[in-house]
Amino acid sequence: MSNKIAVLAGDGIGPEIIAEAVKTIHCLQQDFGFEADLEYAAIGGAGYDQSGQPLPAETLEICEQSDAVLFGAIGGPQYDELPRELRPEKGLLNLRSSLSLFSNLRPAILYPQLADASSLKAELVAGLDIMIVRELTGGIYFGQPRGIRELENGERQGFNTLVYAEHEIERIARSALDIAMLRNRRLCSVDKANVLEVSELWREVVNRVAGEYPEVEVSHMYVDNASMQLVRAPKQFDVIVTSNLFGDILSDTAAMLTGSIGMLPSASLDKNGKGLYEPVHGSAPDIAGKGLANPLATILSLALMLRYSLQQPDLADQIEVAVGNVLDQGMRTADIAETSSSVGTSEMGDAVVAALRALA
Ligand code: NAD
Repeated sequence: MSNKIAVLAGDGIGPEIIAEAVKTIHCLQQDFGFEADLEYAAIGGAGYDQSGQPLPAETLEICEQSDAVLFGAIGGPQYDELPRELRPEKGLLNLRSSLSLFSNLRPAILYPQLADASSLKAELVAGLDIMIVRELTGGIYFGQPRGIRELENGERQGFNTLVYAEHEIERIARSALDIAMLRNRRLCSVDKANVLEVSELWREVVNRVAGEYPEVEVSHMYVDNASMQLVRAPKQFDVIVTSNLFGDILSDTAAMLTGSIGMLPSASLDKNGKGLYEPVHGSAPDIAGKGLANPLATILSLALMLRYSLQQPDLADQIEVAVGNVLDQGMRTADIAETSSSVGTSEMGDAVVAALRALA
């Protein structure tokens, strides 16, 4: 059955990096029997330029009807003065909430060839491959009541509410356990159950859902310890599941272990496994249009799409192997080059396609 993929290039380097991921899709179609229909649509600043909205209605409709969304990047200085509702970022936020994407996957993968790029010792991080699953639509970022109020003594007090309902915990636990089943079957749930009642409930519900997954080894860790362990011995983890706030912080720590933002893919999934796949980085206006951007984070996002939304784990593996082979050949874009010699965006994409073709 043909897969429907919505392709949203967006702004800045978005179109350049998406072009390389599309080349990779074409290679899968030609040499691996992969069936896909691509539908292109505008988002972010490009959406605003086209129709006055960062998420045009037509774009949302195309995404709703697709099996997965491949997303480049949005934003640029020319849009900074627009009212908040019309800014490019709003397009992405609205798309995530319209598609109910509550499960945010942030892998931290460090190809051994790039181990020197990490701020940690190479032996601690070479070959690192962990997945952080962050709850994306609940918790303290959305909890009510919230605000800044004036107390009786005239002093101001800021307040937010950390709430999770059982169904929210249940669905993120299930999403993470499904992911663990596709990986090394180890899940660490991170909370602060020694202090927070909401974490007590989190732990109880995670354990309950875990009962349905006897093959997965489930452990629990307090967030303060988890943040230490991530920089002390990160390779101990396979999949980590955690709340919105803790995941926000821990996934950035984990990302830094890998040293290069141009290498990091991400995904956001709904309860049926439909997802939006995008590089972690932004639209990099400083290098847009120069052919310098590293397309590997976007190509690796495509691999995640094949694994988690399109049920093609073998093709996902092949892409990841091809990227490793290209790095073995010494190919580097400027952001990951140790010497002054580097290749451009399309040369890197061509090299991945050639390496992929060699695996067919
Ligand atoms: P950025 O990630 O775009 O860039 C940070 C630095 O990393 C820049 O020096 C850039 O050149 C470099 N960089 C990023 N991606 C790269 C790649 N693939 N290859 C080589 N170098 C790369 O972050 P920023 O500069 O803070 O933000 C720029 C714009 O992107 C802003 O408008 C911001 O709102 C937007 N943004 C969008 C997203 C998204 O689309 N999801 C995420 C973050 C920021």
